[in-house]
Amino acid sequence: SVTIDLARAWMRAAAESMDEHAEELTRLDAAIGDGDHGSNMRRGFSAVAGKLADTDFPSVGSVLTLSGRTLISTVGGASGPLYGTVLRSAGKRLTGSTASPGELLDALRDGMEAVRGLGGAQVRDKTMVDALAPALAAYSAALEDGADLGAAVGAAARAAGEGAQATVPMTARKGRASYLGERSRGHQDPGAASTALLFAALASVVG
Ligand code: ADP
Ligand code: MG
Ligand code: MG
Repeated sequence: SVTIDLARAWMRAAAESMDEHAEELTRLDAAIGDGDHGSNMRRGFSAVAGKLADTDFPSVGSVLTLSGRTLISTVGGASGPLYGTVLRSAGKRLTGSTASPGELLDALRDGMEAVRGLGGAQVRDKTMVDALAPALAAYSAALEDGADLGAAVGAAARAAGEGAQATVPMTARKGRASYLGERSRGHQDPGAASTALLFAALASVVG
């Protein structure tokens, strides 16, 4: 099951991954945005890692809600409130000291609904939703097939990566990249790429 320590390890692994991939995320954002997504994610998640080190958490969800609040307060770009909303909404539901794989799925679905409510993005608008939606669909399908947490999270991470790749030919309809219209085609969405990193981080600590 998902423990408080696992949630903490997930956020720490995410912080390492955002740091490692910051240049790549910034390069993607330079092509269709303003070239700050890598530094936004690095700054936000490094603040999260700092908070994790000196906080005691009563529940799995409290790790995610504090992480979400920290992203909102430290990231100036659109991605701070958007990621912050995903994690805060997901965290609200996970009030216990452990969560089942199914409870984590429901929580992440709440997170996705909240970010869609906030940003108005549909699937195929070329945003983080294009990594999030297939990740949760794959996770859900894996659980229905009887997969354990490790296998389900692995499937989610693969689907998130494929979802991010699939944004390349899309025309952006939300966020800064939408200002480019058709010229946003041919580039991967940076927020979808960082969402794939977030799921890969989860898979790395579960596996
Ligand atoms: P900013 O655009 O303010 O510089 P970032 O570069 O950090 O912020 O983040 C850009 C990413 O945010 C995009 O690649 C996209 O995935 C995501 N994004 C932008 N607007 C929306 C939205 N309305 N809904 C969902 N995701 C969005
Ligand atoms: Mg940007
Ligand atoms: Mg910006």
